[in-house]
Amino acid sequence: MGGRIAAVLLLGGLVLTACQIAPDRSLDAATLHFNEVGFRGAPGGHPLTGSAILTPTFADHRVVKWTRPIRYRITGFNDDLHATAERFLIEIAKTARIKISVAGDGVDDANFIVRLEDVDVFEPSPMEYASCYANVIQYKGHINRVSVHIARAKPRQIEHCLVHEILHGFGLAHASRLPSAVNYAYQLIEPSSWDWLAVRALYDARLIANKSRTEMLPVARQVLRELQSTTARSSAR
Ligand SMILES: [Zn+2]
Repeated sequence: MGGRIAAVLLLGGLVLTACQIAPDRSLDAATLHFNEVGFRGAPGGHPLTGSAILTPTFADHRVVKWTRPIRYRITGFNDDLHATAERFLIEIAKTARIKISVAGDGVDDANFIVRLEDVDVFEPSPMEYASCYANVIQYKGHINRVSVHIARAKPRQIEHCLVHEILHGFGLAHASRLPSAVNYAYQLIEPSSWDWLAVRALYDARLIANKSRTEMLPVARQVLRELQSTTARSSAR
């Protein structure tokens, strides 16, 4: 359709610029989402604001991801929530094609720890309260260790915290536009389809740890284009 309009306008003697050609809206939305969640370094990891986008470091935010096997430990939850945490870890690792197994009992055996803490709230700074947070330790874009801390709360809040913080633990930052488990505006208790797409794109081999947004966003766009055409083909069958 866009092509036909372009042809008609060109016949009329007009020159079109790229921004006048109808975009593929779903692809643009996926790229927009990835631009928010696929690069770590926004101030405090918080949702992108106009002022964050204008900081000189914005273009230099990096791809941060697991490249080694995960050995997880989940502690302090009741059976249902323990199973939920385990399901998120395994499903996200499987989507990312990262090997995952239960850690042994040794102090240093686990590199991804999910813990229910015996507190009502965390105070990460004098200005804020949080019911959960993730500490992601990475070196040159390669995640080495993650600890997710969750305060006592209602099960639904804990489920939201689990999926939100575990996604951070896989290298995703916050989203501010589309429905997402890392978007504060939606208290989702499962990753959204945009989140699954972002995980698959981030863990594509062409997205290289520690490379900047400037270098990797065009690559991510190509990867997303391929992922979406594969999804469209398989759902058309
Ligand atoms: Zn968060």
